[in-house]
Amino acid sequence: MSAHGWSGPASRLLVSFLAVTILPAAALFWLSWRSLEQDRLLEAERVRKRCEQAADLVVTALQQELAALELRLDDSAPSGGEVFRVVFAGDRVEMRPPHRLLYYPVAPAGREAPEQIFPAGEALEFRDRDYVRAAAAFRELTKSSDPAIRAGAWLRMARNLRKSGKPEEALAAYEAMTGCGPVLLGGVPADLVARRARFAVLEELRRTTDARREADSLARDLDAGRWLLDRETYRHFAQEIGHQPPAETAALAAAVEWLWKRRQEAPAGREAVTAGGRQWVMLWRGESGLAAGPRYVDRAWFAPLAPLLKSQGVRLVRDGASSAGDAQRTAAATGLPWSLQVASADPGADTRQFAARRRFLLAAVGLFSALVCAGSYLIARAVNRELAAARLQSDFVAAVSHEFRTPLTLLRQTTEAFVEGRAGNEAERQGLYQAQTRATERLHRLVESLLDFGRMEAGARPYRLRPTDAAQLVRGVVEEFQSEMASSGCSVELTVEPPAPVVDADPDALTHALWNLLDNAVKYSPACRTVWVHVSGRDGEVAIAVRDRGLGIPPGEQREVFRKFVRGEAARLDGIKGAGIGLAMVAHIVEAHRGRVELESTPGEGSTFTILLPGRG
Ligand code: ADP
Repeated sequence: MSAHGWSGPASRLLVSFLAVTILPAAALFWLSWRSLEQDRLLEAERVRKRCEQAADLVVTALQQELAALELRLDDSAPSGGEVFRVVFAGDRVEMRPPHRLLYYPVAPAGREAPEQIFPAGEALEFRDRDYVRAAAAFRELTKSSDPAIRAGAWLRMARNLRKSGKPEEALAAYEAMTGCGPVLLGGVPADLVARRARFAVLEELRRTTDARREADSLARDLDAGRWLLDRETYRHFAQEIGHQPPAETAALAAAVEWLWKRRQEAPAGREAVTAGGRQWVMLWRGESGLAAGPRYVDRAWFAPLAPLLKSQGVRLVRDGASSAGDAQRTAAATGLPWSLQVASADPGADTRQFAARRRFLLAAVGLFSALVCAGSYLIARAVNRELAAARLQSDFVAAVSHEFRTPLTLLRQTTEAFVEGRAGNEAERQGLYQAQTRATERLHRLVESLLDFGRMEAGARPYRLRPTDAAQLVRGVVEEFQSEMASSGCSVELTVEPPAPVVDADPDALTHALWNLLDNAVKYSPACRTVWVHVSGRDGEVAIAVRDRGLGIPPGEQREVFRKFVRGEAARLDGIKGAGIGLAMVAHIVEAHRGRVELESTPGEGSTFTILLPGRG
């Protein structure tokens, strides 16, 4: 197992850490989400209540306004651009302030000429077809003192003049007819009939400009309400001269006509009526009514509500399509002329606020979760490291004990041999002495090594650097090592590239480092008994390379093996003894010499450890 991988108990540790942190974070998130949702519903409820409240206020204000108006219907009703009192006097309709409507529900009756006056002339006209004499007969009657008879006579005379091919004279007759005053012909004002006829004659004569002028002045008078006409008569004459009635005035006339009919069904009421694409509000009671046009309604009734609506943050819609959340007030329920809807003035603002709160919450929970996860990861990693260190340490203790056991066993056996007198001759005794010496030296080196390591760890290992001939030092170590290893059949091949480099070094420490490398090279080369050492100077540095053709180190372990207590996978699997501190000490010593260690290794092919020390220049 690599010391820092996540596997086995370590990954289980991480998973449980994450579980205990992620679960509460998820629960927190869920709870916050729920409370937000609740918040949103509450907000919607608040908006609805606000609308309801505003709707009540609006309805009350409008009801008061209309009730006050209804009390004043009989006397001083407001007047202005688009509001009129309508007075019904018998079959007459009058507007206050005085205003002539385009047409009236009922046209007033007027004086008409008695029918029995004209038969003589008409006999000449229709039976004898003697238009000249007929015209002459009617001309006589134009001298009558009765304006109604005069008007009827002028009309008939003009007709006969037209028939007898005297249109100019007919025009003059019609002109004279317009001066007969307010008399009716067949229920229609005589001068209106005369002017319409003049227009027809002018058109016949193709006096287009005159005809147009006549039509324009007639249209003006029609629109100004010069005559009290009913709707049919007005429409007929307007159509005859190709006149399109102005929408606004036509709407008022239509509204009054509607009211005329409506009040026959209901003696009092408040209603909105749409005429000519414009909505008029009609209030009426008994003989009096009030017609309020859209501009007046907006200005006098709804504009004063604006501050109220604004303060409540709502908007008011009349007869609009309703939407969820609106407060509805139907005309039937309120007795007002309209159905009203009150809705939030800026529904987007509520949603925006909510979305902002939600974003904030998500960000906060996200940040919190990230912090918690990061925290648990770090804790898990630290705990894992501690566990790994503890494991390494216990491995170390086991390995050190093992290392001690071999020389101690040897010592015990040789000592026993002496005690029991089994060492017979001198040669055997010498052999036992040498074995004892080797075991003691090994123990000594082990103890020294451990003490050294302890001092290094504590930062208490003093280094006394002095100019040292690197080649000479290496040669000495190699020789000593070789003599130590002679019995195991190992050989070390040393090559030195002259000139001999000089470095600042602590000879003891450097010897120790080199010894460790040589020891490893032999230890991890079970098949090859040769180790190569090469000393050279390159780029102002001294390189001491120790090469073997042993097990090699996989790339994943090449950095780790320099850490204390770390042992390679192969070393452990092959049961090669070691405490895992040799390379850590090498690294420490080389670092103290301001040098570095390089490692090139291929598993199965061998390794080269190179100590690089700065040359003395
Ligand atoms: P030890 O040899 O006591 O295990 P070291 O610190 O000297 O401890 O070495 C650490 C590890 O590096 C060894 O366990 C071994 O896996 C690896 N190693 C060191 N030197 C060599 C080498 N020359 N060839 C192969 N592996 C090596």
